[in-house]
Formats: sequence, C-alpha cells, structure tokens
Amino acid sequence: EQDVAEYRKSLAIRVSGFDVPRPIKTFAEAGFSVELMKAIAKQAYEKPTPIQCQSLPIVLSGRDVIGIAKTGSGKTAAFILPMIVHIMDQPELAKEEGPIGVVCAPTRELAHQIYLEAKKFAKANDIRVSAVYGGMSKLEQFKELKSGCEIVVATPGRLIDMLKMKALTMSRATYLVLDEADRMFDLGFESQIRSIVGQIRPDRQTLLFSATMPRKIEKLAREILTDPVRVTVGEIG
Ligand code: ADP
Ligand code: MG
Repeated sequence: EQDVAEYRKSLAIRVSGFDVPRPIKTFAEAGFSVELMKAIAKQAYEKPTPIQCQSLPIVLSGRDVIGIAKTGSGKTAAFILPMIVHIMDQPELAKEEGPIGVVCAPTRELAHQIYLEAKKFAKANDIRVSAVYGGMSKLEQFKELKSGCEIVVATPGRLIDMLKMKALTMSRATYLVLDEADRMFDLGFESQIRSIVGQIRPDRQTLLFSATMPRKIEKLAREILTDPVRVTVGEIG
C-alpha cells in the first residue's frame, strides 16, 4: 500500500474512488495480446505515460474513469488500447452492425488525430475504424458507416446527423469516450453529447477525459458515469 502511494506520487498522480487498481509500470503488466504489444512496440512507446500507468488497469477492469491531465500526456492511447481489448473480448464480432466503441471529440482535427491513433492499433486486429466529422461528404460517410465498423471517432454534430440519417445504430455500443470534455462544452456541444449518450445503452463503460473540470462537467460526469475512478495527473483538476 505504501509502495503504491509512493509510486503514484512519483507519477504526480492522484486517484479517488472505490477499490482503485494499482498503477502499472510497464505495458507488459497490462496483459495485452501479442498483436497489441507488437503495435505498441511499433509506435516506439517504451513505457506507459503517467496517465496510462494508472488509467490502463482501471479501464481494463471495466470501470468508468474520469481522467484529468494536460495536453500531450498520452490520453489517446489510455482509452484506445483498452477499447481494442474491449472489442476483441466481444463474442461473435461481425454479427451485428454499428460501432462497439464510440469516441466523441470537439473538433475535426482532434477527431482525425484520434482516428489515426486508433487505426494504428486496430489494423492488426481486423477492427474497422470510421471517422465522422464535418468537412467530408455526408453521402460518403453514410456509405462507409453502412458498410460497418467497430469504432467510430466523431464530432458530436456530425454523429447526430449520421444517427438521424440512420447510417448507424448504437445498439451494440458499449464503450463510450468523451475526449476533451471541457472543450466540447466550450463549443456548445452539451445537448448533442447528452443526446448521443442517451442513445447508448446504460450498461456501457464510459470514460471522460478533460484538461479541466468545471462544475458543469462535474455534473455531467455524475449523471452519465457509474462509480467512476478519478485520475488526476499533475497540478490541474
Ligand atoms: P493527449 O491526448 O493527452 O493530449 P496524446 O494522446 O495526443 O496526448 O499523446 C501525445 C503524444 O505522445 C502523441 O504523439 C503520442 O503518440 C505520444 N505518446 C502516447 N503515449 C506514449 C508513450 N507511452 N510513450 C511515448 N509516446 C507516447
Ligand atoms: Mg487528446
């Protein structure tokens, strides 16, 4: 216990929540598949960043997480790697349509970056990733979604458009990520986020990442996450 506390301190990490799993020191400790370990090695990620050290074991255990850490701290892999594991754990993958993992991000640039990161880890596992954001033809996007995918990375507005067009169903979505939640609020996406969350089954796993935690986001987190563990890295939060 004392060791765990000191290790967290050395990572500048604070946690709150019940029964928080201990942070890992290496990717090997996460229990990833050989394919995933190869994909990680290919990225030349030698060891997990602090947010990854603490979030990975929590997310892999199926818990909801609120992750608060500044830009550049490696939050994307902290939710993408367990998402790949979550999808690989699903029985009879190809039977139903619609994504299993859904990521919402505030801007098309951020969504695109997450899309690229997801593809790096999805490829080796035959997982299909679709990007859904403005600036691309709606018809092309509609067609791509209709052909099926396991992961969708989206901006809220365009995802709502696609849901309205019935380009996809959320019936098998069980892993939801709200990335850069504070920026999504700043850009006025709160009602769209609530609408999307309302279309995803309540027994989902939900992760919320943000650089800051204003009261409005605390409130949303309380409403849509279940017994979350909060992981804060550094001074912020
Ligand atoms: P954030 O979302 O917290 O702003 P990113 O997920 O975009 O941060 O990661 C920032 C950069 O760090 C990216 O270039 C990413 O590829 C890299 N990165 C992520 N995890 C690791 C790691 N474990 N080791 C080395 N580099 C990493
Ligand atoms: Mg990010």
